[in-house]
Amino acid sequence: MSTERVKCLIIGSGPAGYTAAIYTGRANINPVLYEGIQPGGQLTITTEVENFPGYPEGITGTQLMDDLRAQAERFGVEIRTGIITKVDFSERPYKLTIDDEKEIEAETVIISTGASAKYLGLDDEKKYAGMGVSACATCDGFFYRKKVVAVVGGGDTACEEAVYLAGLAKQVYLIVRKPYLRASQIMQERVLNHPKIQVLFEHNTVGLFGENGVEGVHLVKRKGEADEEYYDLAIDGFFLAIGHNPNSEVFKPWIETDEVGYIVTEGATPRTRVPGVFAAGDVADPHYRQAITAAGSGCKAAIEAERFLSANGLL
Ligand code: NDP
Repeated sequence: MSTERVKCLIIGSGPAGYTAAIYTGRANINPVLYEGIQPGGQLTITTEVENFPGYPEGITGTQLMDDLRAQAERFGVEIRTGIITKVDFSERPYKLTIDDEKEIEAETVIISTGASAKYLGLDDEKKYAGMGVSACATCDGFFYRKKVVAVVGGGDTACEEAVYLAGLAKQVYLIVRKPYLRASQIMQERVLNHPKIQVLFEHNTVGLFGENGVEGVHLVKRKGEADEEYYDLAIDGFFLAIGHNPNSEVFKPWIETDEVGYIVTEGATPRTRVPGVFAAGDVADPHYRQAITAAGSGCKAAIEAERFLSANGLL
């Protein structure tokens, strides 16, 4: 197996990874960035991004990520394709295996592997991706002003998204598979008392339909019960809010994660409990999960990496 040593290894190519790359590249640290499974990250599956500062007319998710990538390349960042398959953080330089075939020794590591929204697993979710199906109400809700949308899920995220969407849309249906909500009491009350939100308890989604985008959802009520009922509901947008999976699995033996898998960092810093290993973006953020907050934490991680290298005489 070939081995290479780098001062800073950045894992992931969303806003956090690219921002960390821009900062470390500009600081002459010669970082190497591995793109991961979804080059460009979650933004490449949204339509238009209207809330990233600096783009008054909005920008497509893919264009934004292409621009961030180009900006990183301008500062000499080496961007490679590959997945981290093994990690050894027992001593510095840390050892990381790429695609089971190449080993990198890194003095500092910035983990910005993101989180993946959970989907129901229906073929129609893929068919209508970016055409009425979204896993981010704050990103895409604006396109559904005065329209009818459905949100799937009964947790805090689903309730927050339903309330957010109710501020824009004409009508919001919350599709909940159980006869109760799992969300905190306060969020439950907000949803249940909201005039524009109708909660459909004991409902499951069977599929979606529409000619050039989502026009409706096939539902089943009380599936498997004697009074089971299949029916269709007209909607313009279908939002998934059934949780996220932070992409932290490979690092878990070495760094602390919470019960869901989000990497735990020291206070508001990107420092993990392994010196020189930092976590930025959605993989360490169960709360905000925005492109701009991810970019901000990528910047913090880069500054921390630079300081760490400097303090250890490695610059
Ligand atoms: P949760 O895991 O809390 O809830 C997921 C919801 O999706 C549940 O209602 C679950 O149903 C439902 N669900 C899961 N899989 C499916 C499926 N296949 N079909 C239909 N429904 C499904 O995830 P959240 O993202 O809501 O929250 C994650 C954590 O973050 C929680 O601890 C939450 O409290 C916290 N959070 C806090 C916020 C705040 O404090 N402001 C805001 C957002 C999140 P079921 O109940 O039947 O399992």
